[in-house]
Amino acid sequence: MSLLVQKYGGTSVGNPERINAVADKVARLRKSGHDLVVVVSAMSGETDRLINLAKSINADPPPRELDVLLATGEQTTIALLSMALEKRGCPARSYTGYQVHIRTDSAFGKARIMQIDEKRIHEDLKKGRVVVVAGFQGVDEDGNITTLGRGGSDTTGVALAAALKADECQIYSDVDGVYTTDPRIVSEARRLDRITFEEMLEMASLGSKVLQLRSVEFAGKYRVPLRVLSSFQEGPGTLITYEENEMEAPLISGIAFNRDEAKLTIRGVPDKPGIAAHILGEIGKANINVDMIVQNVAADETTDFTFTVHRGEYQKSFEILERVAQTLKAREVTGDDKIVKISVVGVGMRSHAGIASEMFKALAKEGINIQMISTSEIKISVVVDEKYLELGVRALHSTFGLEKPGHSAA
Ligand code: ASP
Ligand code: MG
Repeated sequence: MSLLVQKYGGTSVGNPERINAVADKVARLRKSGHDLVVVVSAMSGETDRLINLAKSINADPPPRELDVLLATGEQTTIALLSMALEKRGCPARSYTGYQVHIRTDSAFGKARIMQIDEKRIHEDLKKGRVVVVAGFQGVDEDGNITTLGRGGSDTTGVALAAALKADECQIYSDVDGVYTTDPRIVSEARRLDRITFEEMLEMASLGSKVLQLRSVEFAGKYRVPLRVLSSFQEGPGTLITYEENEMEAPLISGIAFNRDEAKLTIRGVPDKPGIAAHILGEIGKANINVDMIVQNVAADETTDFTFTVHRGEYQKSFEILERVAQTLKAREVTGDDKIVKISVVGVGMRSHAGIASEMFKALAKEGINIQMISTSEIKISVVVDEKYLELGVRALHSTFGLEKPGHSAA
């Protein structure tokens, strides 16, 4: 007998039939002796609908009130799923984040979970009930309702699994696991049986939307056994692992990409201490996250400074940079919001030289110009023109043999 925390995403509970299907599955597992805590998202499209509803009333809704509104999406689903379970003779109790004391900070719309009081949940489990918890929401110190950011139900699931010391946290959605890359771009993409936590963290931060980034960070911190699976078909899904023998690990596990990128360059800034800090300080003050940063080797006592930001913050960044350029007497500001980032990820590259050159060769063969490069121990990212996204991802997927089961191109 084990304790499972299962999380079902929006499409998995998107209509009454889907909710009934989830209830069938949960009731069956309960019958076979598992203890179950089930976290659900709002029905698919509901959170977007609520956001639009809010904006139709107030274009800039107060964050506190927006969270009160958004939390109703998940509250609907917990009640419906519990009703469906009861109808199947499976005792169930639904709880909002507030009711099971999912304590967060007060950052409305992107709150962080600080603490969970699992006593009440344990009591229900002891009585043989399935506990159904609303994802994506919590309560701050002053009793205000908060939400955890888009995709935040993943984090609720992982946090509950950590607090309850669950045997496994299972994240159900409409995809049956983590893939070597997006199957919509590369039809030969394969589901991975396992992926290391570090790789998953890179994939999530590089734009693979299978899991909310924060949920992966949380899982790593508490080493929560985490599995990604589909509620639409049976299968083992993908297990996120914490210990992996690097020698046995595939060289590359996946190709991630991000379309939402833009780059900015400020040319001819003085080459002296404090300049980078000043430029990025101004960008940071506007709450804009910077990703890749490149500074050229100086010539004639000036240098060029390039960085990337989220495409949605391109205009704002450009304006800030033009102001900075005036103060620094820089030569000019240029930018490009038609770029993408493509990355190869794999813990196997730690013990292998030459991955970067293989990657660059493959891109060169397709005539793809690399604009920027950045690396970490287990990933190499390049920025290229957006028109090369598909071509680049496909070329890299085949160069590293990812379409082959048990691939290990070396
Ligand atoms: N309902 C929220 C959203 O759509 C949270 C979630 O689904 O995880 O982002
Ligand atoms: Mg989701």
